[in-house]
Amino acid sequence: MVEATAETKSKDKQAKQSNGAGTPNHSRSAKLFERAKKVIPGGVNSPARACLSVESEPIFIERADGPYLYDVDHIEYVDYVLSWGPMLLGHRHPRLLEAAEQAIDNGTSYGAPCRAEVEIAELVCEMIPSVEMVRMVNSGTEACMSAVRVARAFTKRDTIIKFDGCYHGHADSFLVKAGSGLATLGIASSPGVPEAFTKETISLPYNDIDAVTKAFQEHKDKIAAVIVEPIVANSGLILPRDGFLEGLAEACKKHGALLIFDEVVTGFRVAKGGAQALFKIQPDLTCLGKALGGGFPIGAYGGRKDVMSLVAPLGSVYQAGTLSGNPVATAAGVAQLRVLKTEKPYGELKELTDKLAEGLRTMLKDVSCPATVASACGMLTVFFAAKEVTDFASAQKCDTQMFGKVWRGLLKEGIYWPPSQFEAAFLSTMHTKKLVDKTISAFEKAIKSAQ
Ligand SMILES: *Cc1c(COP(=O)(O)O)cnc(C)c1O
Repeated sequence: MVEATAETKSKDKQAKQSNGAGTPNHSRSAKLFERAKKVIPGGVNSPARACLSVESEPIFIERADGPYLYDVDHIEYVDYVLSWGPMLLGHRHPRLLEAAEQAIDNGTSYGAPCRAEVEIAELVCEMIPSVEMVRMVNSGTEACMSAVRVARAFTKRDTIIKFDGCYHGHADSFLVKAGSGLATLGIASSPGVPEAFTKETISLPYNDIDAVTKAFQEHKDKIAAVIVEPIVANSGLILPRDGFLEGLAEACKKHGALLIFDEVVTGFRVAKGGAQALFKIQPDLTCLGKALGGGFPIGAYGGRKDVMSLVAPLGSVYQAGTLSGNPVATAAGVAQLRVLKTEKPYGELKELTDKLAEGLRTMLKDVSCPATVASACGMLTVFFAAKEVTDFASAQKCDTQMFGKVWRGLLKEGIYWPPSQFEAAFLSTMHTKKLVDKTISAFEKAIKSAQ
């Protein structure tokens, strides 16, 4: 783990550590938010940032360093959002900055192939062996949308199975019971999506293999693919039950459907080879994003060579992008993947996550707060529910009022936690044991004043 504290502090003499003494002054954020609301819907460019469900206004960020965020009012926060996952190595990792700066120096986009595109594709195929061929895109949304298109073309079938509370980006056919962003706002699916687009989407309860078996029986020879978050991040963190993912792989094989792992969150985070390495399952296709690019707009989809060979110009499934494989984004991605490959930070990151999860569990028991903690390497959710959360329905039984109170308490203590009960918090390799202890104390204080 890199200790970024000292450098960070000396760089920003103005930064105040929010230590719960009094209410922090967010006046500059408030002013920016007023301006933003006039010209941007809801004042934000992605609903997850709006802080509506925690009855707060967004904090505007000026800069970030290591495990910290600094807002426009010069308040410092320990960052557990990490751009919703991409900043796995923390903010301003020197290797990543160096690679991006060098790339920018050579121009920012060519619209013709470059070396870094080849390097990142080779690295992805090496680190995730089920990926034999890969196509770069600009976001996780594009990755999932394109993977489904290829799966439909390959199987010559239309219907897809997804799971309630899993999010696969905002493409039309996925906006059925799609988890966090919509759940936070209380939207079941989305207006503007024609019924015709979602009638080919079957949404089933996560962790319910019987429901999957039944759906395959009912829709014989119609199902092109099953798309799943192998560890759910978008209902809060939900782990797959023993046998669930294996069951999906079996059902797909038996019925000639493709298994798509959406590893946009878990890819390169929970293990070098993603959740598929952790659970030892080979999906047919894999979707990547977030931690692939260290904070640059990037995504990728890939998998079996015979399936990916259908993608244009090798095959006839059309998928394109003006900025796909962008030289700066791919150079940063190459740097990020090389650090992950050579430094193998997963043991330490898992240990740190376990320390936070265990510490929180003990504390929650001590203060008699009905809550459970779910975690995987580098990601964690505190559910304010007495019973274990195993699917979207059980996640929705959480006390979101309590979550909101605790979130506001954490912010006062200098902890930037994801502003929704239905999201996972993320840890980076720059988070430290000291910060984890601080976080557990902040939670304790926030929960006690919320009780
Ligand atoms: C964030 C996310 C996406 C969408 O990625 P974007 O880059 O936001 O388009 C897809 N799948 C999962 C599991 C995600 O968490």
